[in-house]
Amino acid sequence: MPAARPEVRAFVALGANLGDAAGTVQRALQTLGDTPGLRLVKASSLYRTAPVDATGPDFINAVAEVATTLTAPDLLDALQAIETAEGRERPYRNAPRTLDLDVLLYGDARIDSPRLTVPHPRMHERAFVLVPLAEVAPARVDDGAALAVRQQPIERI
Ligand code: ATP
Ligand code: CA
Ligand code: CA
Repeated sequence: MPAARPEVRAFVALGANLGDAAGTVQRALQTLGDTPGLRLVKASSLYRTAPVDATGPDFINAVAEVATTLTAPDLLDALQAIETAEGRERPYRNAPRTLDLDVLLYGDARIDSPRLTVPHPRMHERAFVLVPLAEVAPARVDDGAALAVRQQPIERI
């Protein structure tokens, strides 16, 4: 029998701004926990934010801490399958979306492949990522980055 892969702590950003966005994010948190090879360790509160680089209605955002035996590419596959099941389409860059799931951190790994960059290259510019991440894992948020996004409005709901 092959040795089991060790569990890695990863952080996933959830965002939605079409339809029942809060319901979609809550359902996605549950689906994450039900995904084989993945355990939901902790979920942040839900937050409401105005679109930054995107268009459309306000976003609902959250961050999930997961423990997973999936490789990082397999984790991305699992996230994209959940997005697709929620009707995610990509008509153009930063389009409104029923659900967006991004890998923020995968243990301490640094990954730079054509389909996956980890840590997520834009996470440090985004209050909608850093505020919920600080709620579940304050040690993973750099003080300087948190200070730099403090003007971006974000409301815990
Ligand atoms: P942003 O990456 O700025 O948050 P986005 O989430 O709207 O933008 P998407 O259209 O959802 O962008 O994703 C585009 C591609 O980004 C995906 O097909 C995926 O291969 C790639 N990608 C690279 N790094 C990551 C990551 N850490 N998490 C999720 N997708 C990633
Ligand atoms: Ca994103
Ligand atoms: Ca994405």
